[in-house]
Amino acid sequence: MKKIKIGILGATGIVGTNYIKLLQGHPWFQIADVAASPRSAGKTYEEAVKAKWHMNIPIPEDLKGFIVRDVQDFDSIPPELSFVFSAITMPKKEQIKEVELKYAKKGIPVISNNSAHRWTPDVPMIMGEINPDHVNIIPIQQKNRGYDKGFIAVKPNCSLQSYLTPIFALEKAGYKIEKLIVTTLQAVSGAGYPGVPSLDVIDNIVPYIGGEEEKTETEPSKILGKVGENGIIPDESIQISATCTRVPVSDGHTASVNMKFKEKVPSKEEIIKIWTEFKSEPQKLNLPYAPLHPIIYLYNIDRPQPKKDRDNDKGMAVTTGRLREDNVFDYKFLALSHNTVRGAAGGSLLTAELLKAKGFIT
Ligand code: NAP
Repeated sequence: MKKIKIGILGATGIVGTNYIKLLQGHPWFQIADVAASPRSAGKTYEEAVKAKWHMNIPIPEDLKGFIVRDVQDFDSIPPELSFVFSAITMPKKEQIKEVELKYAKKGIPVISNNSAHRWTPDVPMIMGEINPDHVNIIPIQQKNRGYDKGFIAVKPNCSLQSYLTPIFALEKAGYKIEKLIVTTLQAVSGAGYPGVPSLDVIDNIVPYIGGEEEKTETEPSKILGKVGENGIIPDESIQISATCTRVPVSDGHTASVNMKFKEKVPSKEEIIKIWTEFKSEPQKLNLPYAPLHPIIYLYNIDRPQPKKDRDNDKGMAVTTGRLREDNVFDYKFLALSHNTVRGAAGGSLLTAELLKAKGFIT
């Protein structure tokens, strides 16, 4: 099969370099363009990224000589690109919005990690296993804006990737959740490169991450919502209270979750069965980057641990553990996901595969 040519906006950052790694040998997609800030533009990819390359593979030989394009040089976008992943940071959200809209307007679908468009009503915020049907808002988005092939699809914040799939699996099995209290222990790679200064985080816990608690509390309502006539209609039936902290872990966000059910309360054995048997559209479609088991449950009392469990199933599985009864709510548990893989590059790669399988990317 001829591979689909794709670009990476923000190819020199933490998420961007993760895309480079994950896309090596991908059966459908081939990197044909790398773009970043004006600081990197005009340099070879090797020159631009070598000082901050943190992947556990060398910079791929075939990409070393690519000349990095300025993300905002819209006239130099290679015509053969079928879509771009966006992993840029810019001083203002409005600037990112503008850049992504320009690509979409030019007929290039944008699959983004940024929060800029997460609350744009006709932009789907996709987690492959939870709301694959939200891709159906794309024709409405294209009609609203007069786009032919272009569109924007986003992925949610990395902080909620650890706990939302286990919660959704229970809801889907008929056990509706009323309330959640979530405390996250988030890795330093979540702050990009160079991120949190080492003296701030070594031997320490930083009890605040700007904007993260709001995202953790509100984004699930859009993800769990329904496709309406003009946009996604959020489902606000679950009340969520979040505390988000930064911990001295390189990769892997852990969430400690207390949950209260609305009516029926499942047994502990039932919850574990629901989680371990949970499969969804990406598994049915056999998408290349879909985890075989989206939710893993570990019975060991001291798991999940970021160092030991973040790479489970290519870094795409959520690993849960320590499910036990709660004195205040019904149950509590821990959940872990790899923030730069499941929570960023891998999660949006899965979205791209879903979009291709559904015919939105050609
Ligand atoms: P990062 O390591 O700081 O990388 C930022 C990228 O954006 C670099 O390629 C950088 O290029 C580029 N950039 C910076 N200023 C720019 C400008 N003015 N114009 C164009 N490009 C510019 O950040 P990251 O962690 O990869 O995060 C990227 C996005 O993904 C952010 O929106 C972040 O919130 C989101 N995200 C991150 C994670 C995570 O775990 N890290 C998880 C989910 C979502 P230069 O190298 O040339 O400066």
